Amino acid sequence: MSEVTQGEGYGEGYDAAFFRAWLAAAAAAVDREADRLTELDSAIGDADHGANLKRGFAAVTAALEKEPPATPGAVLVAAGRQLISTVGGASGPLYGTLLRGTGKALGEEERVSRAALAEALAAGVAAVGRLGGAQVGDKTMLDALVPAAEALGASFAAAREAAEAGALATVPLRARKGRASYLGERSIGHQDPGATSSALLLAALAEVAG
Ligand code: ADP
Ligand code: MG
Repeated sequence: MSEVTQGEGYGEGYDAAFFRAWLAAAAAAVDREADRLTELDSAIGDADHGANLKRGFAAVTAALEKEPPATPGAVLVAAGRQLISTVGGASGPLYGTLLRGTGKALGEEERVSRAALAEALAAGVAAVGRLGGAQVGDKTMLDALVPAAEALGASFAAAREAAEAGALATVPLRARKGRASYLGERSIGHQDPGATSSALLLAALAEVAG
């Protein structure tokens, strides 16, 4: 087995190409699931979450192909910048901040370990919390991202599972942030679109890690 296909035993760490592959897999997942994300957002929002992320991740993929950054941190910072500049909805600045914050925390290393990524992701997630003022339990993307960042310390698969469980756990919650909060009690009984897309991002990460 070659070094690059060993997944958890990924040589001496994950390089820029791995992070580009992650974002390409995320873009494909967003493309595939765009209708579902929009459907979820039509129940408790304004039905644009699928379109927002599709546009954003298409721009991310194009930018990374045109000018591939040399380090993992630079890949994530460039991707975050694209999301912020191409997505009009709340999720653009929030996901942009997530990727940029994670990328900045990774620094300029050429290869990063899963443990370093877990720590950096936690920093990115904290930046999302500061920007949006939400906490776990408010029925937002943080309900998937916070437990996922924590579980990433154990494994990629654990992070994917934690994000999926976190997204499912938003169903009975009442939204306290974002558009869905305008619905009050009527937001109960629906899965949060942003938590659902966050689970897609973590599933894409687990997929490329093997
Ligand atoms: P918009 O709400 O502007 O239409 P999107 O539909 O693209 O943007 O994204 C909606 C998602 O963004 C929500 O499902 C929620 O997960 C997330 N979100 C909204 N506001 C916040 C916030 N303040 N903090 C964290 N996440 C938020
Ligand atoms: Mg929306």
